[in-house]
Amino acid sequence: MLVAGASIAGPALAHWLRRRGAEVTVVERAPELRPGGQAVDARGVAKDVIVRMGLDAAVRAACTDTAGAHTVDVDGNVLETFRADDDGGDGFIADIEILRGDLSRVLYDDTRDGVEYLFGDRIAELTQDPDGVDVVFAGGDRRRFDLVVGADGLHSALRAMVFGPHERYLRHLGHVLAFYSVPNGFGLDRWLLEHQEVGRSVLLRPIQDATRAMAMFYFASPDFDVDHRDVAAQKSMLRERVAGLGWLTPDILEHLDDTPDFYLDQVAQVVLDRWSSGRVGLLGDAAFSSSPMSGQGTGLALVGAYLLAGELAAAGWDPEVGFARYEERMRSYVEANQEIGRLNARTRDLPAPDAEPLPDFSGEWFVELVGRAINGVELPDYAGVPDSGVRR
Ligand SMILES: Cc1cc2nc3c(=O)[nH]c(=O)nc-3n(C[C@H](O)[C@H](O)[C@H](O)COP(=O)(O)OP(=O)(O)OC[C@H]3O[C@@H](n4cnc5c(N)ncnc54)[C@H](O)[C@@H]3O)c2cc1C
Repeated sequence: MLVAGASIAGPALAHWLRRRGAEVTVVERAPELRPGGQAVDARGVAKDVIVRMGLDAAVRAACTDTAGAHTVDVDGNVLETFRADDDGGDGFIADIEILRGDLSRVLYDDTRDGVEYLFGDRIAELTQDPDGVDVVFAGGDRRRFDLVVGADGLHSALRAMVFGPHERYLRHLGHVLAFYSVPNGFGLDRWLLEHQEVGRSVLLRPIQDATRAMAMFYFASPDFDVDHRDVAAQKSMLRERVAGLGWLTPDILEHLDDTPDFYLDQVAQVVLDRWSSGRVGLLGDAAFSSSPMSGQGTGLALVGAYLLAGELAAAGWDPEVGFARYEERMRSYVEANQEIGRLNARTRDLPAPDAEPLPDFSGEWFVELVGRAINGVELPDYAGVPDSGVRR
């Protein structure tokens, strides 16, 4: 099987496919495993998947050790406090909170021996027939696979190739998000700090034993017309949009040109009627991005990887049956998380006279929605399906 993308969804799927007895190749466009990104969380069922992978200890060892978050005013005075152990560890700061690059490294290290990884390459052409998929790689190789899965993120090239142009599936939520690391000259220690103004915010957290800090900016932006690979244009957009945002913003911006890991993208969701077509399927952000505003993109990718490999194996690798059952199991869980992502984005929108009023978040409906978003999917044991038990 061929999997495109080696961030979270790709290596997690490789783990489960290998355990179910498949031979797996993962192709990643970047020349090496991509570092960077803010912390991502695993809550509810996603924590169970990590345990089933045998990676609980490795993931917890790489966690951020965040005590909680404070919101602060422009002078740094604390306004509100959220602790990591609120809501049994499934709250605003989850008890499994790990930098995206560190989780990707744990998943890659776990699979690298039994899985073929091709870095610095990508699928250039793909043709499928009833028995297999012929792939031409950009590097020139031609190979045939039984199944191909796109785990290549929000701007998935495989999705565009098989399902049509991005505009059809990407829903911009009216916000932009940027992250990059800076030296920790702020005395940060175990606490994440956020300063918010109407329609924009800046957040700082310590990383790497508090020698550095990861900065994150959100700003409202009804349009987004910067190419997702044009870093110079992205940096100038950031400078312009956060100008005048107080607190530590000017100090953080001083490091914009020398940071090793700048990342900026629109806050967007992916909505598709189907996540497969014949022998080609989609997983993670490529299939169902819920956006960072849901805080659950990584959880969806991990749970989806478990279910996709399990359902394909249980269906004797019949793509029609396996992809359909994976989708059936995941849909409502995905939709709950996408709903939370949209609601969170709306709470950060700029005030507008014609804006729909926000719902009452203290209602029972919201507790039910959050419950469905965290735990609303069943993980079958797949008894009778091969499980090599290969795990570290
Ligand atoms: C550098 C980076 C930083 C991120 N930071 C955050 C963050 O701070 N907070 C947050 O909530 N989410 C972040 N995300 C998104 C988050 O990782 C996902 O929402 C979630 O974990 C699901 O992951 P995914 O594997 O489906 O997609 P992604 O994590 O987006 O991974 C997609 C992978 O596919 C690769 N790829 C792209 N195109 C191709 C191609 N044509 N062929 C082969 N490979 C390709 C990419 O290089 C990437 O490694 C980040 C993603 C990246 C890539």
